[in-house]
Amino acid sequence: MRELLLSVVLLSVGAGLLSAKVTPLGAKPEWAELDGFQETITKGKFVELLDRVYAPNGGWKEWIADRRRHGAHLASARGQALRVALCDFRSQAGAAFLEGKAELPPPTKGKPLAGLRIAIDPGHIGGKWAKMEERWFQIGKGKPVTEGDMTLRVAKLLEDRLKKLGAEVRLTRTGGSPLTKMRPEMLLAEARRSLAESNRKATAFTLQKESEKLFYRTAEIRSRAWLVNSVIKPDLVVCLHFNAEGWGDPARPSLIDKSHLHFLVTGAWSRDELEYEDQRFEMLQKLLSRSLEEEAPVSEALARSLAAATKLPPFIYHGNNAVRVGEGDYVWGRNLLANRLFNCPVVYAEPYVMNSRQDYARIQAGDYKGTRIFAGVPRKSIYREYADAMAEGIVAYYAGR
Ligand SMILES: [Zn+2]
Repeated sequence: MRELLLSVVLLSVGAGLLSAKVTPLGAKPEWAELDGFQETITKGKFVELLDRVYAPNGGWKEWIADRRRHGAHLASARGQALRVALCDFRSQAGAAFLEGKAELPPPTKGKPLAGLRIAIDPGHIGGKWAKMEERWFQIGKGKPVTEGDMTLRVAKLLEDRLKKLGAEVRLTRTGGSPLTKMRPEMLLAEARRSLAESNRKATAFTLQKESEKLFYRTAEIRSRAWLVNSVIKPDLVVCLHFNAEGWGDPARPSLIDKSHLHFLVTGAWSRDELEYEDQRFEMLQKLLSRSLEEEAPVSEALARSLAAATKLPPFIYHGNNAVRVGEGDYVWGRNLLANRLFNCPVVYAEPYVMNSRQDYARIQAGDYKGTRIFAGVPRKSIYREYADAMAEGIVAYYAGR
């Protein structure tokens, strides 16, 4: 269906008090930064992406309106309003704008990832911060299970594999220390504001918890995003996590029988999240930069290789905070600070359940070469299985270029 040659989308309709709201430690966005996306997307594709991936609950309709104007090339941002002209076909400008594996040099023999720059983000901080960030539990005299240290171990194994395959690789952290210079005690005023905004009472306990969360989550992730966007400037960010189910008391955690696997791309902004001006900007930046065109197929390739290596079933979301992306059940869209802030394609891995009986036993076994028997089956160490399968998935996608 042919669409009008130039439609105009007006963003941030209803500028006022609500639109001035930004998330904790966030800044008012520079809307002019989106000007480079003029005429790079059709109206049909724009609305389809909003409805299917980015704001499937319809929250975008309160903020984004489209107006038809003939021959308008509107590239200016006035106040909080931005106008993006939409074209009716993928114009030359739009085609040239789209990046991805097509732009990489052809793979060389033995180096299928030559020319590819990858940033690996080992989720969380670990080390002495693991208890504060609630990524720590211990059973009796067993090894403490700390997600931030486990993701770092996988990151280093994966870095080694990807470099051998020809990729240029940078980690967002190489030890158990935060990248941010902020610390909880420096964030008390911001914590008080954050509590007030969500109608929670400020007590000594809630202020401490909130300032800690602003440190290990918000400030830390913002620092990593700055490093990735301003320094590393990769073709792809790979966020590594281990999943878990609620374990209750970290000193007496409960073990469960199920384990699962899924991958996340950025999507599923809620109505409440879209009330924040910086979140609206970040959603549009993600959408207009078309990072989904890279991150969805990479995630699918990774899901195939991880599912084959781990034999894990998909994790299925039932709430409104996630949306199914793609054909199968392994790839979902979710809006996380840890994926939306990176200005490039991002894949976000959530394999294993740390407090499942099967995975807990493998975590206790630590890292080792070769295989050991678990439940009658020879298995690589959980870290090597994860890193090997990630490397295979990345090669499966990029070596096909
Ligand atoms: Zn995690």
